[in-house]
Amino acid sequence: MIAGHFGFAALVKARARQAPLWALMLATVWLDVVFVPLYLAGIETIEWVPGTHGGYGAAIIHANYTHSLLGALVISALFGIAFGVAWGRRTGLVLAAVSFSHWLLDLIVHRHDLPLLPGDAATWPKLGFALWQWPWAAASVELALVVLGAWFYWRAARAVSVSAGTGRRRAGLASALILAGGLLVLALDVSAILG
Ligand SMILES: [Zn+2]
Repeated sequence: MIAGHFGFAALVKARARQAPLWALMLATVWLDVVFVPLYLAGIETIEWVPGTHGGYGAAIIHANYTHSLLGALVISALFGIAFGVAWGRRTGLVLAAVSFSHWLLDLIVHRHDLPLLPGDAATWPKLGFALWQWPWAAASVELALVVLGAWFYWRAARAVSVSAGTGRRRAGLASALILAGGLLVLALDVSAILG
């Protein structure tokens, strides 16, 4: 899930205007960004669901540090603190919450692979509602997030530009870019379902 996270970032931007959109976008995928070096180092791994050749939703992701509940909370808190120092407490809190929203959205789609403690320390049951078992349903949730995000962003940006008396076209353009970008990422994912 990438498009859905970005859609959520646009949704938040409509409400938390003080936080730059790029920082919100980065926050929504921050856990995955931290995942990349750990993946390259072989510490976190991806396993394809037996009988599939990969593709959208066909992964069991052993991101036992970045995507453990405690790990996600710590990484999100650090992310929020770093930005909070620069931009103030309120923005830092928003960015920390948005970073942690990644884990909550992943919880809906992941296949029982999200541990509670880093490194799956206590071998407690892993979490995930496994919506990826039904790729079209998961893609529909992402589509809804992208469309809602672009729509709320447009409404908020238009309201700001109307009250300021300028930049109305810019609000429309930014929303169109959010929508087009989200749909493009989603289309690539959906082509993986079809292929
Ligand atoms: Zn993730």
